[in-house]
Parts: sequence; structure tokens; C-alpha cells
Amino acid sequence: MPKGIYKHIGRPLSESHKIKIGLANLGKKKSLEHRINMSKAQKGKKLSEETRKKISKALKGKMPKNLFQKGYTPWNKGIPMLEETKKKMSESRNGHIVTKETREKIRQGHLGIKFSEEHRKKLSGAKKGKYTGERASNWKGGLTSINHAIRNSLEYEEWRTKVFERDLYTCQDCGQIGGYLEADHIKTFSLYPELRFEVSNGKTLCKPCHKIKTREDLEQNWNEWYGKRNYGQFARLNVIGGIYG
Ligand SMILES: [Zn+2]
Repeated sequence: MPKGIYKHIGRPLSESHKIKIGLANLGKKKSLEHRINMSKAQKGKKLSEETRKKISKALKGKMPKNLFQKGYTPWNKGIPMLEETKKKMSESRNGHIVTKETREKIRQGHLGIKFSEEHRKKLSGAKKGKYTGERASNWKGGLTSINHAIRNSLEYEEWRTKVFERDLYTCQDCGQIGGYLEADHIKTFSLYPELRFEVSNGKTLCKPCHKIKTREDLEQNWNEWYGKRNYGQFARLNVIGGIYG
């Protein structure tokens, strides 16, 4: 028999026959080709309310709490995504802004994550006496909370709006119009406090372009910010590549 998907036609299968088929397939791994064919065969099909209820009942307690849970393999792993699907997904994300409510939900969700005793010990052991207080690589003399307050102030919001309006809500590096935009300080926020609310010192950037700019600022100003404290190259790469990225 040639390989492929065969629709069962004729008499409906008896319950015992279905169980037999199920048992015979237990533990068998389907080939990638087979899974692709199965996925194609299901395309565009809508499940009835009854079927969905059945599936949900059968999966109760078997589904992972999250997609990154150890040992969980997504059903579509290894199956190439159709170009059309990819396009649809990207379009639906374009200019997508996560609402405050959703962000709060995500945050709450993360709060619920509990690490194992062992993992927590590791975390606390790793931090002990190392990267806290003045020795922390991102320590800026306790300015973080002050900077945070400034960035959330009305004055700051007004400055940002003026920058956006002047730039017609367009990223000045790549030309993206609208979507998620940020106002960048051409001369940096921390080294030029007197220019923080100067509209001429502002520039509208989309998030990816702002990330690149921030990285460039960090590389340029590394010595002024961190050079006096004797951090190694590793810490520098960490800050430039990660925390502030
Ligand atoms: Zn951009």
C-alpha cells in the first residue's frame, strides 16, 4: 500500500476496534512526512462542539502548564510552517500593542512560577556577596529610582509627545510609521541631564532601532559610565549584550 492518509469509509468502526487501533499505535512515533500529511489533511476543518468537548475532556490534566515545560514537545515540532501562515501571523502582530491589562496578566502569571527548592538555593547562593550594592554592574549610585520617576513624569510624557508629533510618528532610522515607537535622547539621558526635555535632543525610533542606538551609546560611553570601576570585559559584554539591550 502506498503511504498516505486514508479516510475511513464504510461502516463506522466499533468501539472495540477503535481501542485495538489505539493500542497498536501506542508509543509509535509518526514520521515527519506522516505528520505533515496529517496536518495538511486537517487544514481548514472545523471541529464540532461535541468533538472539541471530547478532546478537551481527554486532554484534561495531560496538557503542560506552559509550552516550555520539560519533556513537552509541541505537536507541530519539525513541521515547516506554510508561507501563508507565517505571513498571517506576522500581519496580526504588526503594530500590535499589548494592553496594560494583558501586561498585568502576564506579570501575574510570572509571579505564580515557583522554582524548586534546589533551584532557589542555587539562585541565592549565586547572588550572595557578589553582584549586589555598589559592586553590581548596573549600580548607578541609587539613581535608578530617580530616573524611573523622571521617565514617568508628566514633563517627560509631554517631551515624548512633542518629539513624536514633530517626527510625524515615524521612526527616523527605518521609516516605520506608527506602531510601537519610542523617543530616543540623541545626547544620552544620563550624561546630558540638561537636555532631557529638549525636543531638539529627541528622536522618534521604533523599538528595534532604539535597541541598536542604545547599544551604540553604551559602547561609546562605557568608560564614562563603568570604566572607573574595574569591571572586566565579560561584565561589559553582559551589559551591552543583555541587560540594557
Ligand atoms: Zn526603526
